[in-house]
Amino acid sequence: MPQYKGSCHCGAIKFEFSAPTIESGLRCNCSICQRKGAIMSAFTLAPSDLLITATPDSLSTYEFGSHIAKHHFCSKCGIYPFHQTMRKPGRYRINLGCIEGMDSSSLPFQVYDGASI
Ligand SMILES: [Zn+2]
Repeated sequence: MPQYKGSCHCGAIKFEFSAPTIESGLRCNCSICQRKGAIMSAFTLAPSDLLITATPDSLSTYEFGSHIAKHHFCSKCGIYPFHQTMRKPGRYRINLGCIEGMDSSSLPFQVYDGASI
């Protein structure tokens, strides 16, 4: 499987994972995803399959509502590299725009109707 590497904008948060070749993404229309506008991975990763390295105090987490989903972001540059999902608690989706060399805006994506949950 290909190895993917990515980071937030300032580089304080870096991550790596292996996954089948990424050919599509996922968007969601819930209250937070529509504000972020990111194209996320259609697959999820177990915490043990995502290697995260972050400088001290850079990795911040936003929660709301049920507090099941964890929206992680960089406290320095504000970029949101991944989150832990509502539907599969604990598992991560990756912001495809944060992956090195990936043109996430050219990928097809499905829209998940998170607004109706
Ligand atoms: Zn950053």
